[in-house]
Amino acid sequence: AAVIVAIDGPAGTGKSSTSKAVAAKLGLGYLDTGAQYRAITWWMLSNGIDVNDATAVADASAKPVIVSGTDPAAPTITVDGLDAAGPIRTQEVTSAVSAVSAVPEVRTLITDLQRSIAAEAPDGIVVEGRDIGITVLPDADLKVFLTASPEARAARRSGELKGKEASDLAATREALIKRDAADSGRKTSPLAKADDAVEVDTTELTLEQVIECVVTLIEG
Ligand code: C5P
Repeated sequence: AAVIVAIDGPAGTGKSSTSKAVAAKLGLGYLDTGAQYRAITWWMLSNGIDVNDATAVADASAKPVIVSGTDPAAPTITVDGLDAAGPIRTQEVTSAVSAVSAVPEVRTLITDLQRSIAAEAPDGIVVEGRDIGITVLPDADLKVFLTASPEARAARRSGELKGKEASDLAATREALIKRDAADSGRKTSPLAKADDAVEVDTTELTLEQVIECVVTLIEG
């Protein structure tokens, strides 16, 4: 039977690297749900929608066609057929994504999309995000909630960024904390651990150790 794995947690805990590696090892699909929220945010910004106007965002939310490729070795994301992988990682999108993803119409659309992608994955899928275990896939076979200290998370995020941003660890840490607060404070999608999720604190673990831990949990 297809195996459905939900991996949640805040930014910088290693969700993407872990989820991709676990999916590749076990022959499962991989879905980055943050990329989908970033993609719809990029479309809003590109089309002149005021991201702080929830009504305008809701009214436009069904217009962009977002397609996610679920091969963990080469995940893709397109919006209206355009490659969005680069543009969704800009600072502009990162700053706007919490506001856009708080709009209920956006969450309903993206949640439906995520459920249909998971249902269609032939051998199963690893889905990573914030609300996967609680809201999107409450019947997942395994739910993992990754955590790490703010320092470890900022250091990892900083290492991922290119150029001058990478040098500013303190600013990265502040931005992460701000985004966590925005993500956890809203009614529509609390960043929260499902009661039946296994919490893994990655602060003192290498990526390899986290991957092994999740693989072991899946293989039971
Ligand atoms: O994981 P990533 O940092 O790319 O997620 C970007 C943003 O998308 C998050 O800060 C959050 O606002 C939103 N998000 C969400 N629900 C998810 C995944 C991401 O609201 N399942």
